[in-house]
Amino acid sequence: MTEPMPLTAEQFLPVAVAMARREQQQKDGLTLILAPLPNCPACARSAVEVHASETRFPDDTLSLLFRPCGHRFTVAADMGYEVARLAEEIATREEREGGDLLAEYIPPAGEKVSIGQPEPPVFVIALHSDDGTLIVGIRPDGSIQQGPNYQPDAAAAEFWDAVTRAAHSAAPWTEQASG
Ligand SMILES: [Zn+2]
Repeated sequence: MTEPMPLTAEQFLPVAVAMARREQQQKDGLTLILAPLPNCPACARSAVEVHASETRFPDDTLSLLFRPCGHRFTVAADMGYEVARLAEEIATREEREGGDLLAEYIPPAGEKVSIGQPEPPVFVIALHSDDGTLIVGIRPDGSIQQGPNYQPDAAAAEFWDAVTRAAHSAAPWTEQASG
């Protein structure tokens, strides 16, 4: 058994988006052919199952187990809620606008700040409203900045539960979880 690895916001976002896409499809009544499960953040192997621990807002840490590779991860609750909220926003936008919008939210790996640019990017992940106002951003150190219109509300808790549910339903080719 491997030691669980804590995920950063950048690592968790693609996982959360993959779950959010599936959740969105299930809301739409699609249950046979769902969007792919996320790749394992450690080994990049595609998953056939992702198990998530039961969590409860606001103070549980989410545990994830990827199969077949067996890598285990933990997601800190406060960061996880914010990332899950962004993931839901991305999945909703994708359904409306089409395409893969995840890349818009994460700078390409290894991208360097150009010379002469006064400051490095403030956020590794940021969500802006249509007029460009920051809603919420996550800094490289994992801290969170909230914009004037940000509402840390029941929606975050609700979606956190949805991510957990999506992970639980993410094993259609193996044994069904009971209950
Ligand atoms: Zn792995």
